[in-house]
Amino acid sequence: KILVMGSLNVDLVVTASHLPQKGETIIGGLFQTHPGGKGANQAVAAARMGGKISMVGSVGKDAYGDQLCRNLKAEGIDICYVNQIEEMSTGVAVITVDSEGQNTIVVASGANFTFSPENIISARDAFTGASVFVTQLEIPVPTVLEGLRLAKQNGAVTILNPAPAQNLPDEVFGLVDYLIPNELELSMLTGETNQKTAIQQLLDKGVQTVIVTLGSNGAVIATRNSIQMIPAFQVDAVDTVAAGDAFIGAFAIGISEALSVRQAAILASAAAALSVTRHGAQPSLPWRSEVEDFLKK
Ligand code: ADP
Repeated sequence: KILVMGSLNVDLVVTASHLPQKGETIIGGLFQTHPGGKGANQAVAAARMGGKISMVGSVGKDAYGDQLCRNLKAEGIDICYVNQIEEMSTGVAVITVDSEGQNTIVVASGANFTFSPENIISARDAFTGASVFVTQLEIPVPTVLEGLRLAKQNGAVTILNPAPAQNLPDEVFGLVDYLIPNELELSMLTGETNQKTAIQQLLDKGVQTVIVTLGSNGAVIATRNSIQMIPAFQVDAVDTVAAGDAFIGAFAIGISEALSVRQAAILASAAAALSVTRHGAQPSLPWRSEVEDFLKK
């Protein structure tokens, strides 16, 4: 079983001819709501790759919270450990997209940021039988820390996607088996622009393996003793939203199936490559059979 701890959001997306200026009101076009949040996206990515997934996180006791829970259930994800919190709104991302595809995003974290270390301790049964634990940074850092601790105590392999980019207390790093940042997150975490120096710093702080994703340039896998490149698959990218989430979800599956790190990263790159050929976040996440077919080509 894979346990994913993290955010659940509803993306509220409106299209417009241009992004409004300060004080400006414009009449937009299509309005859509989509399930999102990095936590939920990674849980869905892993579920579609064929894993048994449990999600732990918080939503509000409102219609959006119900919608998100229904969505995860429909993906076959166990949501017994998703709290529905009274008097707190479900996390939303308010997104405006212009005719060129440029966007502005405001996230109201809502219930995601009331998700506390105590909540994780009360959900400690969720850790039983989980061989892999996955989390990100759209929930409070003390909660992330507690989750990593519990996962380690229960013998799980830990994966941290340090997104959105921010600084972290040093204690976090010794609890992380696989740290998977993109380039921006790597430099924000370390205050270093030099990739090699940044990676070395994280390994020195106790991370077992650092995997830096480099968009269409692929990914670098680094441990104390080795460094290797995983090239990206060549595809026609139309929308790179959730490429990272596709990568993390599929990587977690590979690790849970005891693939080598290299093989898990190749599976992850294939899932991510397929996701960039499609629009949207969750709608772009591929199923295992699609990834297997893609790898055969
Ligand atoms: P994030 O979405 O978190 O910013 P990246 O942009 O680094 O992450 O992408 C994650 C992974 O997705 C990459 O390591 C790569 O395997 C794959 N990927 C991203 N963009 C492309 C692309 N244009 N073509 C093929 N693969 C891609």
